[in-house]
Amino acid sequence: MSFSLWGYPMVNTAMTWTTVLTIFTVLLLAKLAAELWLDGLNRRNVQANAGAVPEGLREMVDEPTYKKAVEYTLAKNSFGQAETLYEATWMFAWLGLGLLPLLYGAVAGGLGGSLWGQAATLCAVGLVMSVPGLPWEWWGQFRLEEQFGFNRSTPKLWVTDKLKGLALGLALGYPLLCLILWFFQWQPRWWWLWAWAALLVFQLVMMVLAPRVILPLFNKLTPLPEGDLRARLMELAQRTGFKCETIEVMDGSKRSTHSNAFFTGFGRFRRIVLFDTLIEQMTPRELEAVLAHEIGHYRCGHVPKMLVVSALMSLAGFGMLGWLAGQSWFYAGFRFAPAWGMPAALLLFSMVAGLATFWLQPLGNYWSRRHEYEADAFARNALGEFAPMVTALRKLHEKNLSNLTPHPLFSFFHYSHPTLLEREAALRAPMPA
Ligand SMILES: [Zn+2]
Repeated sequence: MSFSLWGYPMVNTAMTWTTVLTIFTVLLLAKLAAELWLDGLNRRNVQANAGAVPEGLREMVDEPTYKKAVEYTLAKNSFGQAETLYEATWMFAWLGLGLLPLLYGAVAGGLGGSLWGQAATLCAVGLVMSVPGLPWEWWGQFRLEEQFGFNRSTPKLWVTDKLKGLALGLALGYPLLCLILWFFQWQPRWWWLWAWAALLVFQLVMMVLAPRVILPLFNKLTPLPEGDLRARLMELAQRTGFKCETIEVMDGSKRSTHSNAFFTGFGRFRRIVLFDTLIEQMTPRELEAVLAHEIGHYRCGHVPKMLVVSALMSLAGFGMLGWLAGQSWFYAGFRFAPAWGMPAALLLFSMVAGLATFWLQPLGNYWSRRHEYEADAFARNALGEFAPMVTALRKLHEKNLSNLTPHPLFSFFHYSHPTLLEREAALRAPMPA
């Protein structure tokens, strides 16, 4: 590719390398320190409240469940801290110690510099880089989740899931990468704008296809069968302005006893999916509350709002990438050959972007929590009372052994949903006239 050699002034490679390595290491350590510090705060807060159910929570949870939730939280916390350290170490090895340019150079040399070869190089490198995380996923599922009775998956199912995920990732990712690399050849100046637009279209298409085509590859989705429950839920949907032909039940119990419900898609393609585990755990009235909450997300326009914001964020990201791909120090700083060009910049950027976006997490979560409050309020108004939503949430927290005493800073940073205590308080607050 001739273009990538154009526009690169000579740089003092050694100096650039030291500067970029220093900035990278500082950012990596800052993120690591913040993560471990927040985890530590949270751990100490849970331990401090571990003795007995705290005053304000006695009505919500019984002693044995509370104790078990504390144990589960602490076990996940230890596991999470070790994993955070492990990931940061790998990140330093890839970029700080220069393992990645070695790997990239070897793979790129084998697969060639054609557009197809470059896209294949990115896929292959991505695949190799995902390997160190696998033992942790395995341990999380078959040790941690198993220990607390959540795991229903089997090693065979786990491996099958991984292979299916890999095949799917390649089937979708490879053509998309080829397209992005082609944009770069076609429009060397504005390629990132085209790439952004293509990714946006891809996301929209995926939102429609995911519940219909992709989710069924992993789970069985069946329409909620005729009967009292279905009649009640359909009536509720009708009444709250959510016309739908079907409510779907997903066999979440195939892998885990964790329960959930979700809403996806938009317009004509919207879907509400309930986990079979949820249906087992809740009364019809509570399920009405859960459904009303999901419909609340739809009626309050949360999906389009999130889409617009994430599109703007990714536009900023692509703009940044477009600029970085033309900066020789960006390659030299990580010991990448400038001749590897834009694909290498794409890979580098996808790795280092997280060091910056990490600090935006609290903003995104704050916004998400506001949406949860809105959906809860919608459910309460739709049902005309707060009790079913309250008991549904208590059951969800009990069955999933959620941490009921997170440190406020930890939940502020990491929680996409308000805590049980916060949600109950909001639900019980006087209804606006
Ligand atoms: Zn929600």
